[in-house]
Amino acid sequence: MSFAAPVDSVHVRAPGKINVYLGVGGRHDDGYHALATVFQAVSLYEDVIARHADDFSMTVSGVDDPDTVPLDDRNLAMRAAKLLATAAEYGGGVALEIRKSVPVAGGMGGGSADAAAALVACDALWGTGFSTARLHELAARLGADVPFALHGGTAVGTGRGDQLNPALARGRFDWVLVPSDEGLSTPVVYARLDALRDAEGALADDPPLSLEVPAPVLQALRSGDPDLLSESIYNDLQEAALHERPELETTILRGIHAGALQGIVSGSGPTVALLCASPEGAQEVQSLLREHGLESLHVHGPVTGARILA
Ligand code: ATP
Repeated sequence: MSFAAPVDSVHVRAPGKINVYLGVGGRHDDGYHALATVFQAVSLYEDVIARHADDFSMTVSGVDDPDTVPLDDRNLAMRAAKLLATAAEYGGGVALEIRKSVPVAGGMGGGSADAAAALVACDALWGTGFSTARLHELAARLGADVPFALHGGTAVGTGRGDQLNPALARGRFDWVLVPSDEGLSTPVVYARLDALRDAEGALADDPPLSLEVPAPVLQALRSGDPDLLSESIYNDLQEAALHERPELETTILRGIHAGALQGIVSGSGPTVALLCASPEGAQEVQSLLREHGLESLHVHGPVTGARILA
């Protein structure tokens, strides 16, 4: 394997995601929940620039509170770079510059996008020449959402969210995202879901350990019809996220009142994703939300996964 260094730096862009559908089943013995989800990559991107260096280091910009993003081995992008170096037996390091746009701990997979981008950037910078399949395998070792950020588009995740299969989606879906000032911890939201289910107790059946995405969700994505999709977007984590942040329910209702077709909490939240009928509809929703003091972002999906910028 050669480690020729034909470039000084590599710039990669990777998308954040919305879980259009998220079903959460029972908890396996390893602590992970059974999942059936549909990811959609949206036009809110993380930029990662990799430059040659003897050691591993990183900088992060685009966050309100720098303390929310670790700059050491707890950072998924740092772990990605080191994992690739080990797998490729590369002896040098990298200086990573991360420009964030995806809200931190927002339920949109920003850290996973950084990790996917770091894998692609370091592979190109170091001339590692790994195949897409090999990068996918490394991505899967970093976290269930990382392979999706590599591939983008629309995809179904089953198992523990780690078994990824592309889904057909026609056309473009417009979303208005309402971020929160403060993030939500994914483990906290799952723990809340478990507690809520335990409280339902003997009245409820045990949640299944194998789940599928309901056919109407996939049909709606194939149709490209946002009206149809609005009838089947769903998130099993929503109740738990609303328990942690009751004000998100008001945000969803305000969005629907402003003309959105439907709204959900994205992933483990707290970002709210409002599905709109058209780009113009999304702009209208944004301006009405602004009257309530809610700032939002208009994005669309599906978009492509991690890619090198010229
Ligand atoms: P999830 O993938 O669990 O839905 P999320 O999208 O809600 O995560 P992220 O922004 O990916 O949230 O980060 C969750 C936590 O992971 C952060 O609070 C932070 O402590 C840590 N973290 C690790 N690497 C990164 C990174 N590159 N960017 C942001 N946070 C990171």
